[in-house]
Amino acid sequence: MSRRAAIYCRISQDRDGAGLGVARQEADCRALCERKGWQVVAVYPDNDVSAYSGAPRPKWQELLEDVRAGVVDAIVCWHVDRLTRSPRELEDVIDLADRHGVELATVTGEIDLATPTGRLIARMLGAAARHEAEHKAERQRRQRRQAAEAGKVAGGGTRPFGYEDDRMTIREDEAEVVREAARRALALESLASICRDFHKRGVVTTGGRPYTASSLRRLLASARISGRREHRPRSSWETTRPLVGEIVADAVWPGIITAEDSDRLRTLLTEPGRRTFDGNGARSYLLTGILHCAKPAENHRACGWRMVGRPRSGVRRYVCPNTPGVASCGGTATNAERTDNHVRDMVLAALASEQFLARLSKQEPSMDEELLAEIRADEEELEELAADFGARRISRAEWMAARTPFEERLTANRARLARISPRSALAGFLGSYEDMQERWQHKLNDSQRRAIVAATVHRIDVLPASPRKKWDPDRFVFDWVV
Ligand SMILES: [Zn+2]
Repeated sequence: MSRRAAIYCRISQDRDGAGLGVARQEADCRALCERKGWQVVAVYPDNDVSAYSGAPRPKWQELLEDVRAGVVDAIVCWHVDRLTRSPRELEDVIDLADRHGVELATVTGEIDLATPTGRLIARMLGAAARHEAEHKAERQRRQRRQAAEAGKVAGGGTRPFGYEDDRMTIREDEAEVVREAARRALALESLASICRDFHKRGVVTTGGRPYTASSLRRLLASARISGRREHRPRSSWETTRPLVGEIVADAVWPGIITAEDSDRLRTLLTEPGRRTFDGNGARSYLLTGILHCAKPAENHRACGWRMVGRPRSGVRRYVCPNTPGVASCGGTATNAERTDNHVRDMVLAALASEQFLARLSKQEPSMDEELLAEIRADEEELEELAADFGARRISRAEWMAARTPFEERLTANRARLARISPRSALAGFLGSYEDMQERWQHKLNDSQRRAIVAATVHRIDVLPASPRKKWDPDRFVFDWVV
């Protein structure tokens, strides 16, 4: 009886030359079927250019299903390494051969999975292919690392946003977008809020797609936009790359933002619990998290709970939450619009005052510079260690051990850097009272306004309303940052 054969081809890059294109694989397999007198019922081509990437192979799954359904009783492929990528997958095939009497034939040699010898050969061929692919992955990783250390332009992929096709020349209109996004992210505006604004203005990725929070995060966290090269190794072939890698060299292309801003962004965007201010379309409550209830409790201490936005009869209000089982007193409320306006006026007045700004700049930690210098020094130290390891002057174990203290200090210093960055919300906003008022009213969204308030005031205590006064600005006690 003529066997019904399925030809399985896999497009892959793990062999150069040898004409292993999918057309050649298929032609050879068809010739083999003819010689054996088998009838070709279907061809299953999988596109799997990243050898050993662990990517799903839909056609392979289809083939297995057809075998189980009894539509196919022979599998033909070019070499065992086309068929399976891991010992486990090979065992699946052997299992299928047992249960469904499927025959396997390869162009490069007969393998009879029904005999122990045939299985042994298949397993050895599979293991050899796997060894070769893993070896190649290691070789590629080393090459990428070397290219990274040389600060070379990485080839392939789409054009990086902010640069021309040569990946070297700054594309000014996009660079301006990068600077703006960096400024806004550093001012703690949420990525989602920046993306919404980009959608409105039609700003898209180089692939022509709208920016999402994650694509914007990747852009802003990349060392590339600061003219630096980073190396982000995969820990093994099955894991994805980390967002932020180790900076290994100054690149040969110019940066769009400074290394300092890049360091801040990389810290900020990788911090798990980072606080951002999300300005979505709906009117949000500007001061939640900043207003605290100051109504004296029974022990004469203030209630201290954060006030939350809660409308009543369509009027937006901040209230001390009155939630059963919660220790908040529920005894303070204030009209949100009037409170927002009052706080805005106070903040702008403070920011227009020379004394306030002088105190602010005095308090602006001069250790900022020291901190950056220390971070830079640790990074350089790590680069040298990496170079020593790359040149085999030290072993991998020595490299790993020597890295630890530098990495620990780097992590701590980067976290400190992130804590002082809220102040950067004020950059580009400061000016005369009128200018700031104009910007506040017409240029900023709620997310940016919150960032300005947070950079100016630690917290505002709200005293309970006096029954006789309708609006009393003295209820608000400001705890300024300086
Ligand atoms: Zn309260």
